[in-house]
Amino acid sequence: MAQWLNATVSETIYWTSSLFSIKAKTGPLPFIAGQFVRLAIEGPEGRIQRAYSLVNPPDSEYQEFLVSTVADGLLSPLLQQLTPGDTVGISQPASGFFILDEVPEGDNLWLIATGTGIGPYLSMLATTEPYKRFKHIILVHSVRNSADLAYKELIESFVAKHPGQLRYQPVVTREPHPGALQDRIPNLISNHQLQQQCGQLLNSKSQVMLCGNPQMITDTKALLIEMGLSKNLRRNPGNITVEQYW
Ligand SMILES: Cc1cc2nc3c(=O)[nH]c(=O)nc-3n(C[C@H](O)[C@H](O)[C@H](O)COP(=O)(O)OP(=O)(O)OC[C@H]3O[C@@H](n4cnc5c(N)ncnc54)[C@H](O)[C@@H]3O)c2cc1C
Repeated sequence: MAQWLNATVSETIYWTSSLFSIKAKTGPLPFIAGQFVRLAIEGPEGRIQRAYSLVNPPDSEYQEFLVSTVADGLLSPLLQQLTPGDTVGISQPASGFFILDEVPEGDNLWLIATGTGIGPYLSMLATTEPYKRFKHIILVHSVRNSADLAYKELIESFVAKHPGQLRYQPVVTREPHPGALQDRIPNLISNHQLQQQCGQLLNSKSQVMLCGNPQMITDTKALLIEMGLSKNLRRNPGNITVEQYW
């Protein structure tokens, strides 16, 4: 049974009118980078709860979440209205297997996200584990508009700490943006544009994590399987590890 912490919201960041981050003070919570908790708000008809990935690394005093507002959704519009001092429920313990412990060794590690799917990678990249295990790590963040490229500065600070090892590749599908590619992820992989731009191979010696939009995950997974990669299962280790948000 999940336990609930009543946490106090300490900060909100509005990246766009429908993309925001919430920070809540809890003291350090036990979790593994990549895991998620449930956030909850008490509504007139009871508690509304949904899963959200932790953006911060383990051992932080504050827990941070990147949320996109689903216009007709039940919880995300309420989360968007939270302001510092408000209470939000956080379930304990954190759970999920979208963690590096579940990823086998590989020549390189591709971390591919759409939208808020970047969250678990930010938590992982703030730890030492990916840099100890992989010679090359490529973080690919696909969004519709450049304003949706949340945490760009944080990511650039990770890259500055790990030059030549960590590469950040934004993809902005609906407008040109300096340094960004502009197409769907499966197209960018099948025409090799992504691999060329990042100077890395993507093949059966790679490890690939996919997080976010279910269509991106389905299409990219199918393409990678055609390319000779396989789904990573505990009983049958492979190279594609996924977290689907809806
Ligand atoms: C393991 C896990 C981790 C998750 N982590 C995050 C996270 O870090 N940040 C985050 O914003 N969301 C995350 N989600 C999605 C989140 O749990 C909710 O589904 C989402 O916030 C919508 O909740 P809602 O109550 O507003 O909408 P609901 O009333 O539950 O549903 C509205 C409809 O919108 C669809 N939907 C759900 N999410 C989206 C979306 N992002 N874009 C478009 N349509 C959507 C659903 O299929 C549903 O039909 C995660 C989900 C899972 C399973």
